[in-house]
Amino acid sequence: MTEPLISAQNLAKHFDVGGGGIFRGGRPSKLRAVDDVALSIMPGETLGLVGESGCGKSTLGRLLIRLLDPTAGSIRFQGQEITGLGRAAMREFRRSMQIIFQDPYGALNPRMAVEDIIAEPLVIHGTKSSVERRQQVTAMLDRVGLPRRALDRFPHEFSGGQRQRIGIARALVLQPRFVVCDEAVSALDVSVQAQIVNLLQDLQRDMGLTYLFIAHDLSVVRHISDRVAVMYLGKIVEVAEKRVIYNDPQHPYTRALIAAVPAPHPSRRSRGKRENIAGDIPSALNPPSGCRFHTRCPHVMPICKEVAPPLTETQAGHQVACHLMTQA
Ligand code: SF4
Repeated sequence: MTEPLISAQNLAKHFDVGGGGIFRGGRPSKLRAVDDVALSIMPGETLGLVGESGCGKSTLGRLLIRLLDPTAGSIRFQGQEITGLGRAAMREFRRSMQIIFQDPYGALNPRMAVEDIIAEPLVIHGTKSSVERRQQVTAMLDRVGLPRRALDRFPHEFSGGQRQRIGIARALVLQPRFVVCDEAVSALDVSVQAQIVNLLQDLQRDMGLTYLFIAHDLSVVRHISDRVAVMYLGKIVEVAEKRVIYNDPQHPYTRALIAAVPAPHPSRRSRGKRENIAGDIPSALNPPSGCRFHTRCPHVMPICKEVAPPLTETQAGHQVACHLMTQA
């Protein structure tokens, strides 16, 4: 069997917060953005990552490509442990791991021309020849569907969709293998979203890319993903093939998320049990004991408040973290 391109075990990121804030009485606290997460992504695969705002999706994406240092756990890329690598050692891997951000305007330097924006990673990684850089930049412009006259223009001269194409060109100019798409289409109009999603799929096929596709829009995730991981308050609560997640979700939180997705046609509605969840996601500063979903779960049992359910394989390729799976 093929090895995962990237995998994580017991991955955690806790941020120190407080220590002087008027709302926390001066006491330092830990924000548990990501806690004990395990996942793997196969070469050429798209893993969708969904969950409410503040559940830790973006932090997890940044941890995997080492834009953030983990508090604990292990990350392996192409079979090599990269968790403890310093800046210099990470440089070799950095070319192969890139990120496309949500806000293309915020991610692009407004004072740089498009050619310089896209060429910057090549400069950083040592492509010295300006001729070679221009060749690679123009090749990327062609690939993302932008005209060559865009080279000497500035970000503000483009529409949101065009700016995201510039951001994609910049992320892919180093020919990476793994790309984190962090809400990469969330800020765009629906019609433009479809164009960018189609572009990402074409680029994946042509360049052999592997994606972690982070989004809160489950319709978009359904379109692009092979498998989907559902995250709640820093934990992965369910992972399965897309078809299984959308048609037969097992975790109460996944069921509620899927039930909230508007179906374009009755024949495409989820056949899974439907249920709604009340209230807001609790604070990651003080997550609930046991199962973190127990404060909102309609099936909560005494054990749920005491013991955190492990992510357990319920059938081949389908993992769920819920005591209902073992109490049945
Ligand atoms: Fe609900 Fe308990 Fe399952 Fe958590 S472990 S999702 S509280 S039933």
